[in-house]
Amino acid sequence: MRGLRAVSSIVAVSSVYESAPVGGPEQGPYLNAVALIDTARPPAALLRNLLLIERARGRVRDTKWGPRTLDLDLLLYDRVSLDLPELTVPHPQIRNRRFVLDPLLEVWPDARMPDGSAVEPAVGTVAEQPLRRLEDEVLGAEAART
Ligand code: ADP
Ligand code: MG
Repeated sequence: MRGLRAVSSIVAVSSVYESAPVGGPEQGPYLNAVALIDTARPPAALLRNLLLIERARGRVRDTKWGPRTLDLDLLLYDRVSLDLPELTVPHPQIRNRRFVLDPLLEVWPDARMPDGSAVEPAVGTVAEQPLRRLEDEVLGAEAART
């Protein structure tokens, strides 16, 4: 399988955060994490790689918002702004979801949108969304640091 390491160097990986599903059918909780990577791939090529990794991990797209084995989203790409049919960067939901913001700011506290505005202040607007940080499950963080 060609994983993320085949197309980038992993700078940091956040803790894992557990959240309740948003919409969709009755399903179990979600586990979320954010990786900060350094890559030479342009955004569209990187997205294709992410979708291939999802598929290699058994991802099938059937029910919208339904259970999935793995969902890899491209949140930010430097200060790039893109609105293509298959790719929107920054990811449109960054500032609305605590399960995205918390892990993102953990690996990149100074994250900024293409207009230069800091992502961090959005934390205040999602503080009421339940989210649990699983402190003992730091996915590959040690490996990423070495
Ligand atoms: P979601 O991530 O919204 O739950 P999917 O993973 O099924 O849904 O993604 C559906 C499509 O969203 C992908 O095939 C991809 O082309 C598109 N897409 C648009 N912008 C992005 C992005 N920033 N990151 C990931 N996928 C994106
Ligand atoms: Mg996705």
